[in-house]
Amino acid sequence: MDPYVNDDLRDIQKAVSEFCEHEFDQEGLHKLEDEHRYPRELYGKIGELGIIGVGFSEDIGGSGFGALGHVIAVTELCRSLPGMGMALSLGYIPGFVVDIYGSAEQREKYVRPMIEGRYISAISVTEPDSGSDLSSLKTRMEDRADHFVVNGSKVFTTNAGYADFYTLLARDQDRQTVTIFDKESIDGNLPGCFEINDLGRKMGINTTTSGELVFSDFRIPKDNVLGQRGKGLRMVLDGFELGRIVIAAQAFGSMLYGYEKVVAYAKKRTQFGRPIIQFQSVEHDLVDMYVEIEKCRNILYKAAWLYDRKDPESKKYSSMVKLAVPESAIKLLNKTIDILGGYGYMRDQGLEGALRDVRITSIYEGTGNIQKNSIAKMIF
Ligand SMILES: Cc1cc2nc3c(=O)[nH]c(=O)nc-3n(C[C@H](O)[C@H](O)[C@H](O)COP(=O)(O)OP(=O)(O)OC[C@H]3O[C@@H](n4cnc5c(N)ncnc54)[C@H](O)[C@@H]3O)c2cc1C
Repeated sequence: MDPYVNDDLRDIQKAVSEFCEHEFDQEGLHKLEDEHRYPRELYGKIGELGIIGVGFSEDIGGSGFGALGHVIAVTELCRSLPGMGMALSLGYIPGFVVDIYGSAEQREKYVRPMIEGRYISAISVTEPDSGSDLSSLKTRMEDRADHFVVNGSKVFTTNAGYADFYTLLARDQDRQTVTIFDKESIDGNLPGCFEINDLGRKMGINTTTSGELVFSDFRIPKDNVLGQRGKGLRMVLDGFELGRIVIAAQAFGSMLYGYEKVVAYAKKRTQFGRPIIQFQSVEHDLVDMYVEIEKCRNILYKAAWLYDRKDPESKKYSSMVKLAVPESAIKLLNKTIDILGGYGYMRDQGLEGALRDVRITSIYEGTGNIQKNSIAKMIF
């Protein structure tokens, strides 16, 4: 019995799991990865079925289950097929800042269609010379009558190229401001003002793009400012507070995927006349995984629970799960490959792909060191 998950959430868990069983297939994922193509059709389906909306509030078309709802849904998506679950959830995680700080009009325009699976979101924060140190970013916006003029460049924007809207953090005089731009804003600019360059193949999550965005006198209407001018960095970090918990859920679901696969394999694979699970060293490795999963589940659900209650401890727990769960997932998935022996190294077993996919969870929205810095500030 889990103290955090009620019957409604258990029903959602079951429904998401059934959906994935029916709709996800590894070969399909590999094909999309090879073609470097986003699973747009499936994204539309998880929107239609309300899976994206589980954690969003009811006033904008969600089901109102908050961070815990997001965690349950994303865990199940990644438990079924990590590369697919991660890509699908990356369609809406970048939209959290707009949901939290958007005006009623902005939320209707961007967040509602995102929840319905019609819009994919992106957030452009990182720059070539400003990653962990976001306060040093150089992309600047200048105030001109009814619009801003943006100059500079961003890197690593997930979904660049096919996103329907982008959340942009830029320097606004000596502070930072967030604006939103979409296809309409891009089309309203002169040719050459905006460029997207795909940064190419990466270690994992290859159905998504990681793009460079280049702005040369790019105009953004003043109405597109999100929240308060000059408070941009704080707003992005507030979005990350939820994002980090949901990224930890990506890692947690991937752990479950690895664990379930490796246990099934260890029971079936026979060497020296018996199933390898009967070798105590293998069995103990599986027990270690089981215990690690329970530790991660508890801290992850607690982080989401605190977030939903706006508890002052929430920020610390958000960083703690973003630090701990990805590390555990990487370690666990690496171990599953050892237990599968040579077969674990093969693509069609899924585990090497899961390890490559999950590797990013310890990097994006703040590396492990950055989480440690935040935790240290809060505990010492
Ligand atoms: C696949 C992928 C998707 C991404 N998606 C997005 C996205 O959608 N939008 C976006 O804006 N960005 C995105 N990013 C960028 C990502 O958030 C950054 O890569 C990450 O925050 C780290 O920044 P950096 O790469 O510049 O590393 P750096 O900041 O240069 O860090 C390098 C190393 O130094 C360490 N370090 C830095 N500062 C400190 C410190 N103060 N104390 C201790 N150690 C420190 C880091 O932990 C790290 O180990 C993505 C990146 C990837 C690879």
